[in-house]
Amino acid sequence: MKVATFIETGKMTVTEAPVPEIQKDTDAIIKIVRACVCGSDLWWFRGISKREPNSYTGHEAIGIVETVGNAVTSVKSGDFVIVPFTHGCGKCAACRAGFDGNCTNMEPGGNAGYQGEYLRFTNADWALIKIPGQPSDYSDDVLNSLLTLADVMATGYHAAKTAEVKAGNTVVVMGDGAVGLCGVIGAKLLGATRIIAMSRHADRQALAKEFGATDIVAERGDEAVEKVMALTNGAGVDAVLECVGTEQSVETAVNVCRPGAVIGRVGVPQKTEMNTNALFWKNIGLRGGIASVTTYDKELLLDAVLTEKINPGKVFTKRFNLDDIQAAYEAMDKREAIKSLVIVSE
Ligand SMILES: [Zn+2]
Ligand SMILES: [Zn+2]
Repeated sequence: MKVATFIETGKMTVTEAPVPEIQKDTDAIIKIVRACVCGSDLWWFRGISKREPNSYTGHEAIGIVETVGNAVTSVKSGDFVIVPFTHGCGKCAACRAGFDGNCTNMEPGGNAGYQGEYLRFTNADWALIKIPGQPSDYSDDVLNSLLTLADVMATGYHAAKTAEVKAGNTVVVMGDGAVGLCGVIGAKLLGATRIIAMSRHADRQALAKEFGATDIVAERGDEAVEKVMALTNGAGVDAVLECVGTEQSVETAVNVCRPGAVIGRVGVPQKTEMNTNALFWKNIGLRGGIASVTTYDKELLLDAVLTEKINPGKVFTKRFNLDDIQAAYEAMDKREAIKSLVIVSE
């Protein structure tokens, strides 16, 4: 089979590999239909973080169940499924509390290789999400939206959920990548009435507005804080979705909060330390982390996509075949695509 493989900084290729096999009764083998490139993949692609050369890549997909282990009963061969980057068991304390992204029974190594023809997926019984019917039953747009439920849409929703967004709230969304844009959708789903998106790029501003943003702030740092304060008559906002992860972004998030506001962060922290004293002086809550993909998909996101209440698949602005994986990464690296779609099979 073909699988996307990382060679070195800035270089991807497609290699031949044996089709993976069931190793544990809780596994499933998935035939991938569509996959994509994640903003977080760019860190190692750009050499900002380390990645093992010759490792398989990708962690978001939709596909068809090929075979299942003996302990897997919720899906069977031929089922169409969302293939999340998380592998919740559904039984541990974390999963039961709705934090399946932190499942304590997660197996190491099961989180790559989704940009390939076949994948061995661990904890398949609970973590996979069955989609009614087959890919051919859905439009291209809906297939793309279903794909976002493997990561970005669930992650954007997690930012809104952990920021405790409530009906009638005014919120700021930091970050105009695919996750930030999905955060706008998440905030709207939770009833925010004023959604201020921070974005400097015309194409992303337009999509943020389409997804429900009411205001756009193009400034950064202190200027951005001033602008948000002006928009809220000096009050600050009820919640912030922090979808970047840089120190400046977290600092701006703290500064636009009203006293008692909550920040939900899904931007992976790029610095090891953080001074939390500023939070104390304004009673600000800081939460967030790895998204609860399966929990949210089963709870509301799959239904919202199937009824076309939300259309997060619009974040895919360029499409590639698996063979053109290098171009798929480059398009995101050069900001020519908000998110690159990778067609693996039909
Ligand atoms: Zn991702
Ligand atoms: Zn678990």
